[in-house]
Amino acid sequence: MTDLKGKSVLLTAAAQGIGRASALAFAKAGAVVHATDVNETVLKELDGTEGIRIRRLDVLSNADVAAIAQEIGRVDILFNCAGYVHSGSILEMKDEDLEFALDLNVRSMIRTIRAVLPGMLERKDGAIINMASVASSQKGVPNRFAYGVTKAAVIGLTKAVAADYVAQGIRCNAICPGTVESPSLEGRMRAQGDYDKTRAAFITRQPMGRLGTAEEIADLAVYLAGATYTTGQAYNIDGGWSI
Ligand code: NAD
Repeated sequence: MTDLKGKSVLLTAAAQGIGRASALAFAKAGAVVHATDVNETVLKELDGTEGIRIRRLDVLSNADVAAIAQEIGRVDILFNCAGYVHSGSILEMKDEDLEFALDLNVRSMIRTIRAVLPGMLERKDGAIINMASVASSQKGVPNRFAYGVTKAAVIGLTKAVAADYVAQGIRCNAICPGTVESPSLEGRMRAQGDYDKTRAAFITRQPMGRLGTAEEIADLAVYLAGATYTTGQAYNIDGGWSI
C-alpha cells in the first residue's frame, strides 16, 4: 500500500463523488489532506476526519487559488479533481458553455499548478494528478462535445507540464475514468427522464457490466501520488470501455 505519511495534499472538489473518496483515501494513506470545494455545506461532512482539513476554494477564482496556496505553504501532491459535464453536440453548445467548461475543467488546473509548482521545484519533488476522462482524446463520446474538448486539453496540459519538469523531480499524470457513481452522475441520469433506461444504458457501455465506484478512482489517485517512475501518462480506468 502507498505510504504518504508526512505528505501534504491539495485536493479540489472534495465535497462529493471522486474528490470526497480521494480525500478519505489520501488521509488513510497517511497524508495531511487540504480538502477543498466551493460547496462548504457538503464539504463540512468531512470535518473532523483524521488527516483532513477542509477549506472553501472556488477554482474559478485566481485570487482564491493564490490565497489558499499561500495559506497552506508546502504542497507535495496536487490532485485537480474539479470538473463538470456539459451535455450536447457541437451544434447544441453555446459559446458561453464552452467558455465555462474551459474555465472549470482546464484553466482551474492551470491556476492551481501555477500556484504550487514553484514550491515543488524548490524542493525538487512534487506529484500532480489531473482529472481527465475517457471522454477526451481517449474516446469520442456522443453528446459530450465541450466535455470531450476540455478533458482532452487536460491530457495535453498534463503531458506539457510533465515534459517541462521531468528532470526536476516533478511528475504529472492524468486519470481518465469511465462512468463512475457520483452525485452529479445521478443527476445527469435523472435529468434524462427515464431513469432506469438511462442507468441501464450507462452500465451497458462499460464492458465489465457495472459502473465504477469513486473509491476505485481514488485508489488510482493515491497510487499515482506515490508512483515515482511514471509521468506524463493518461490512465484509463473505465471498466473496459476504451478497449
Ligand atoms: P461531482 O460532479 O458529483 O462533484 C463535483 C464537485 O465539484 C462538487 O462537490 C462541486 O461542488 C465541486 N465544484 C464545482 N464547481 C467548483 C468550483 N468552481 N470550485 C471548486 N469546486 C467546485 O463529482 P464526480 O462525478 O466524482 O466528478 C469529479 C471529477 O471526475 C470531475 O472532474 C469529472 O469530470 C471527473 N469524471 C467523473 C466521471 C463520472 O462518471 N462521475 C467520469 C469521468 C471523469
